[in-house]
Amino acid sequence: MHFQPFSPKTIVEPFRIRSVEPVGFTTPEERKELLAQAGYNPFLLRAKDILIDLLTDSGTGAMSSQQWAGMMASDESYAGARSFYRFEEAVKDITGYAHVMPTHQGGGAEHILFHAIASAGKIIPNNNHFDTTRAHVEHCGAEARDLVIDEGADLALIHPFKGNMNVEKLAALIEKEGVARIPLIMMTVTNNSGGGQPVSMENVRKVSALAKAHGIPFFLDACRFAENCWFIKTREAGYANVPLIDIARELFGYADGCTMSAKKDGMANIGGFLAMNDSKLAEQCRSFEILMEGFPTYGGMAGYDMEAIAIGLYEAMDERYLAYRIRSIEYLGEKLQDAGIPIIRPTGGHAIYLDARRMLSHLSWQEYPAWSLNNGLYLLGGVRGVEIGSVMFGLQPDGSEKEAAHELVRLAFPRRVYTQSHVDYLAEVIVELDRQKDKLPGYRIVRQAQVLRHFTVLMEPVVGG
Ligand SMILES: *Cc1c(COP(=O)(O)O)cnc(C)c1O
Repeated sequence: MHFQPFSPKTIVEPFRIRSVEPVGFTTPEERKELLAQAGYNPFLLRAKDILIDLLTDSGTGAMSSQQWAGMMASDESYAGARSFYRFEEAVKDITGYAHVMPTHQGGGAEHILFHAIASAGKIIPNNNHFDTTRAHVEHCGAEARDLVIDEGADLALIHPFKGNMNVEKLAALIEKEGVARIPLIMMTVTNNSGGGQPVSMENVRKVSALAKAHGIPFFLDACRFAENCWFIKTREAGYANVPLIDIARELFGYADGCTMSAKKDGMANIGGFLAMNDSKLAEQCRSFEILMEGFPTYGGMAGYDMEAIAIGLYEAMDERYLAYRIRSIEYLGEKLQDAGIPIIRPTGGHAIYLDARRMLSHLSWQEYPAWSLNNGLYLLGGVRGVEIGSVMFGLQPDGSEKEAAHELVRLAFPRRVYTQSHVDYLAEVIVELDRQKDKLPGYRIVRQAQVLRHFTVLMEPVVGG
């Protein structure tokens, strides 16, 4: 007997489940009550009352049996722990950078780096700053400038690398402001704030050449480097047969250093690092590290966290895992688009973004359509995403309200946590909600904080409006 070759359409989850955690089933009546008690703010719900939690992919992933085994065998010595050297070796092997500083999470690395290089009058260009990155830049008195390509701002436009930097704008910025005002050029891979969209190797190469020509250090915000490398492998000419780790090494090789949140492609629940080649800058950063994070061989992490990351960084580059992850998101995207639901296209590396402005056109921006859509997902299906719209970005420093650039609901996928049936269920919930969207009310703010209000805001639905 001789079978014909067969290429199945179903991408099997590349793991089997050995430890399970119950999810939170609730009735529609209970959810109505729970959301009201939470001030109509999903951030204030208890996780046990959520069926599928897509609030963030940060630190919410499942670790492997190998990672747990590494954690059990960790070394918790204060200084010079074996686990640090294992962690350092892994980071050096992948990035090639000479100096590696562990931090408690990505924000810790940003804190140290910008403290060392950013100050009033300086400008940090990036494709798109992630919100905490922007906050760290601004906290040091510098300006965070976003220079993503124009295609990156068009939600529905299909382009393989919508996270790319506009190199002409970057060159013009350097020309206009002068090298002295630009202590660092950064690029976020993948571009989280821009929809999880990747950056091409060609674009990184050009930015790197421009930075070198002007003697400006070039750093990657490398949180989702493995996902970005997967897109390079599958979308950019010449990379289809290159092993993922070699793509990653080439990518890091164009930069002088990186900040990293190990809660993303470190496959860990906490941790991060700052890495670089420049010895002088590293010395300065290390003294800040001791002050802000901890001794340089643990930097705010336990030995077992560093073990989990040393193993997780390689697991994030497993091509079967990446195929499953990126396909799960694309698969949901296809189901939604087949039902005519507007999303950011093409689907990115870690999340689906629903375009609430187009979906809930019966609500004005002052009625917070993306907030309403996200609450609808919870009420109808027990699903939690996050609003990225006028609640998150609308409040101005002078207390006035301004419409956000987009009204989005982001559904971010924790790593190795959900299966195809979860995704099928999600699609059903979103399509059904779209069918009944006219019932979704506008919201008004009852009480708010003056900064980052979305975390704690209390809302109420506008009835009979
Ligand atoms: C999550 C994230 C960070 C910050 O990392 P934390 O570990 O959450 O502090 C920085 N940049 C990007 C692009 C991120 O996604």
